[in-house]
Amino acid sequence: MKKEKPTIMIYSSLTRKKEPFFSIVDGELKMYACGITPYDEIHIGHARQAVIYDIIRLYYEYLGYKVKYVRNFTDIDDKIIKRANDEGKESSQICEFYIKENYKDLELLKVGKATYEPKVTECINDIIEYIQKLISKEFAYVNNGEVFFSVEKFAKYGQLSNRKKDELINSEDSPNKRSNNDFVLWKPNKIGEPYWESPWSKGRPGWHIECSVMANKYLGDEIDIHGGGIDLIFPHHENEIAQSEAYSGKKFARYWVHNGLVMINGTKMSKSLGNFLTVKDALKEYFPEEIRYAILTHNYGSNIDFSKDLFLNARKRMYYFYITLLNMYKIIESTDEEISSNFVPEMADLEKKFVEFMNDNFNTPKVIAEITNIFKELNKIIHSNKIILGEKKGIFKSFLKNLHPISKVLRLFEEDPRRYLTRFNDKILKDRNLNENYLNSKLKDYLSAKLVKDYSKTDNIKDELKLHGISVQDSSESVSWEFIF
Ligand SMILES: [Zn+2]
Repeated sequence: MKKEKPTIMIYSSLTRKKEPFFSIVDGELKMYACGITPYDEIHIGHARQAVIYDIIRLYYEYLGYKVKYVRNFTDIDDKIIKRANDEGKESSQICEFYIKENYKDLELLKVGKATYEPKVTECINDIIEYIQKLISKEFAYVNNGEVFFSVEKFAKYGQLSNRKKDELINSEDSPNKRSNNDFVLWKPNKIGEPYWESPWSKGRPGWHIECSVMANKYLGDEIDIHGGGIDLIFPHHENEIAQSEAYSGKKFARYWVHNGLVMINGTKMSKSLGNFLTVKDALKEYFPEEIRYAILTHNYGSNIDFSKDLFLNARKRMYYFYITLLNMYKIIESTDEEISSNFVPEMADLEKKFVEFMNDNFNTPKVIAEITNIFKELNKIIHSNKIILGEKKGIFKSFLKNLHPISKVLRLFEEDPRRYLTRFNDKILKDRNLNENYLNSKLKDYLSAKLVKDYSKTDNIKDELKLHGISVQDSSESVSWEFIF
């Protein structure tokens, strides 16, 4: 397929509507997404965000864009310092450990690294220079070693969060602030805290300034997409806009993309609230593609309630997809004959539909719904007595060819179905206290009974297996078992 660049519509939180995407540099995407504070294991909320921006990146690459994607590590923060003190370690040791763990988890979830992954502590000089420029432009002031951004100097303050001035209070408390609206750019260290020398005090940067500086350092004054969780709109992103636009005099980000949160029983999943599921714990129970499926069947902008049912549904669907893929592979391998066919017209349009849905604000749920419809048709073909093997083979091969580029963006349906299902069977059999020998001996009894037409015995075996959550798949060619969910 020729990769022309059709219009992508993106919902921008700044204008609160879908807007056509035009990049600053033709054929290039510059994207920044706020990263994690590495003081603990990442949870499913972090994973969701990482998956979303990774898919946006992969989609632009699929369209032929050169992508520069920055995801930072906030490796200096109160929470890190507290953890380091609790464990008698240095902040840097805590960060090094959890950054490594973050990479391990994301790799298992098939999330690629960003183009640049800067750490705040590597950008302190850049941050100091940046703050100096804000002071010289009189957007910032120094008081008692502390530096603040003066919100009243930035007329457009509040545009992203759409709040009134009296609702734009930056909560950090300091006697050195001129106004409650102002926010800190540099703060002196407290005893025992890590610090850096600066013209104003020994101290460290405020959180908001870090992202403005890292975005600027790696992507320049203007970027295409700025992403992050919806809970960061105020104050974090509002403050980033103020700092960046005060600094450069240019529009900072063309499109503000915000992902919804992961909720548990209606409350935001968060370490500080104590309700969370770590990626490591989720991966003990679920396969990476099941977690990705659960994420991608929701619009990126909406909140997801991560319940057991959501994961179980993902499990059921991925099992169905891989069984179907395996059945297709078996048919492909069973014959040398291959007849090209246009039996499923939707199939030929799959890539076109994929582009259409992704261009509509990265609508992954619609892409998956479309793939699901085609799998339904493919299953009819697998079990059809009317279509000859060579023709089935032609249909399946052309489907797999169509699916391949989409798989590479969604990072779903990528595994060898035999390997996927072997791992899957091992896990579920163990969970259900079953073993394969038992099932195989039951199938053998079933086949013998079927051969002598002892249908009451075959029914009994079916009922017995059903109690264990197993169904017998009986077709003219073979008898096998499948899990019931
Ligand atoms: Zn940020």
